[in-house]
Amino acid sequence: MSKQHTPEEKMVRDEVATFMKGLRKRNPHEKEFHQAVEEFVETVMPYVLEHPEYKEAQILERMTEPDRIIIFRVCWEDDSGNIRTNRAWRVQFNNSIGPYKGGLRFHPTVTQSVLKFLGFEQCFKNALTGLPMGGGKGGSNFNPKGKSSREIMRFCQSMMIELHRHIGEDTDIPAGDIGVGGREISYMFGQYKRLENRFVGTLTGKGLAFGGSLVRTEATGYGTVYFTENMLNHLGDSVEGKTCVVSGSGNVATYAVEKLIQLGAKPVTMSDSGGSIYDKDGITADKLAFVKELKEVRRGRISEYAEKFGCEYMEGKTPWSVPCDAAFPCATQNELLSADADALLKNGCKIVAEGANMPSELDAVRKFLAAKILFAPAKAANAGGVAVSGLEQSQNALRISWTREEVDQRLHGIMKSIHEQCVKYGGHANDGWINYVKGANMAGFVKVANAMLAYGVV
Ligand code: NDP
Repeated sequence: MSKQHTPEEKMVRDEVATFMKGLRKRNPHEKEFHQAVEEFVETVMPYVLEHPEYKEAQILERMTEPDRIIIFRVCWEDDSGNIRTNRAWRVQFNNSIGPYKGGLRFHPTVTQSVLKFLGFEQCFKNALTGLPMGGGKGGSNFNPKGKSSREIMRFCQSMMIELHRHIGEDTDIPAGDIGVGGREISYMFGQYKRLENRFVGTLTGKGLAFGGSLVRTEATGYGTVYFTENMLNHLGDSVEGKTCVVSGSGNVATYAVEKLIQLGAKPVTMSDSGGSIYDKDGITADKLAFVKELKEVRRGRISEYAEKFGCEYMEGKTPWSVPCDAAFPCATQNELLSADADALLKNGCKIVAEGANMPSELDAVRKFLAAKILFAPAKAANAGGVAVSGLEQSQNALRISWTREEVDQRLHGIMKSIHEQCVKYGGHANDGWINYVKGANMAGFVKVANAMLAYGVV
């Protein structure tokens, strides 16, 4: 039986439908961007309708239009002397509350739509951190897999030849993302420095010897687990003893698993684009050290874990069929489908925290919310990475380095404050359940929208 809607709910639905129709028309074929905006608009529309000043100022229309998008060609030479051509973008989405800030992604699936969804989400995530950072995102359809370090270096240097004129420590500060880790940031920063003849913190995620911050590498994964701990503490519980299913084996997944182990949880899966490992005994610190060496040094496949430790390998599969208390999607967008949400809920999963950006498709999110489990959306749960990037910028500007304890303490404080903002805006009046999607979207919206209103029509 379909749910009956009140007249107010119907009005919100109609407004969302009209808005989304216009957005789809203005941005055809950008399905990832449509998805991110729809999830956002669904939750903020009731508030917008109650506050006519936002509608009069066309805030939602303006917020969903990037300030600018820079598209450029990147040519480079491979090790065999062949000339290769890739396309790159920088989406400068919104700088209402600070310079553009967001990562660069190198992956063959990168399109303008993917970068627009990521840049859009970044605006509100950055607002939640409480630091003065606007939203941006960039990257290229360059595939780093199977390339030599020299090829990666030549690509990064060529990319920076164009990118450097659009970024700066007070303008736009890129960082890493999928396919862009410490090695790539170092190549790009080296080239930036050479082109500009200035040593400033225009990129974050730098090496510790040249302006990087302690805890930046770990920040996104650690922050996701800190946020989860905040949700559980709010209910008088903790992650200790919880069986956790994690996807991915890159930066975010690795450090989410590390923090889960440190807090006494039992992570049992990791994955890559080839498949998932399922270690019923739990991934320990020693086993994780193997994963780090495998992924960060040898750049091998997660299937080697199963061979080494004699556990199950689920070829070509995501880990969502594995019974768990908590799930941490930490690989990529739309990796957790509607049917996966069914499987997780059926198996008793009570917590989902998004380490990756938009890993759950919209139907899956709706199912988690309908089941009233603890669902932490990416904007809130993975904001620890950009937060520590913001702290790296502060340290660069002050020309000092904080200790590991100082940075970790600040990260803790920021994740706690994001949780409090979500509770403030997402608390449910009747039964105490917190809608973290609504909470995160609303808290981010209010901050960015009010800054936009203050500037007038710009
Ligand atoms: P990495 O490149 O370090 O790792 C990505 C992981 O996801 C790898 O295990 C990779 O497997 C897997 N993966 C990537 N694409 C796919 C795909 N299409 N299908 C299946 N598996 C895939 O990236 P990060 O860990 O940095 O980023 C992971 C997610 O977290 C992304 O959504 C990113 O936007 C988000 N994020 C990252 C932040 C950071 O600080 N790094 C900050 C905030 C969010 P394989 O190697 O086989 O491709």
